[in-house]
Amino acid sequence: MRYGIISDIHGNLEAFDAVLEALEQEDIEVYLCLGDIVGYGANPNECLGRVWELTSEVIAGNHDHAAVGKLDIISFNHMAAEAALWTMQHLTRTARHYLRELPLTRRHGHILAVHGAPTQPDKWPYLITLDQVAVEFPALPDDTTLCVVGHTHTPGIFEMNDAEEVCRHIHGYTYQMQSDCRYIVNVGSVGQPRDGDSRAAFCVYDTETYLLEIKRTTYDIESAQKKICRAGLPDMLAERLAYGQ
Ligand code: ZN
Repeated sequence: MRYGIISDIHGNLEAFDAVLEALEQEDIEVYLCLGDIVGYGANPNECLGRVWELTSEVIAGNHDHAAVGKLDIISFNHMAAEAALWTMQHLTRTARHYLRELPLTRRHGHILAVHGAPTQPDKWPYLITLDQVAVEFPALPDDTTLCVVGHTHTPGIFEMNDAEEVCRHIHGYTYQMQSDCRYIVNVGSVGQPRDGDSRAAFCVYDTETYLLEIKRTTYDIESAQKKICRAGLPDMLAERLAYGQ
């Protein structure tokens, strides 16, 4: 089975369309979407429409909850809060209903999908350091060999060898997974990468070859930026796209 896994689209239609086009070449059978479909970008409804057409395997992110009043934006920084309010005002009724109904986690075969962290799917902690990731492994259900996450907008592959009790951060973004290990993989962000690479990120996972790839694709950043500025969203949200921060 070939999985296409995407996260943190954040209303960036240009990035999302480029990712969808790239995924068309990948013989994907199942698409998983890890949340934060909206927030920051100027096309929340359009991105939601694309996700709805693409797959029913979708979970909610903190920005999806904020946009429908399920999460208090007091926990957001000024820019994120402003974007959440803008999104709240611009979502269609159908979009609001759709976001409200999304679950926080999803299982597909031996894969667990969660936006932030498996121990606290409703608290949205950031998994950044190796130590933070390592404590998540015991929380995974026994038959879960791969947990896919988003939220930090920074891609990364973490491997747990249970027999040796060793957790490590894999260097690089193409990895031949080992059958005796378990993994937590951050698939990066489609619409607002923050790892210094402005290209949109997505993940392809093949259960037969056990190959996991986090890929990147360029997109029309300038158009996405212009839309953000024209919409009256903070200019900084447009500027950061160019730097991947
Ligand atoms: Zn996000």
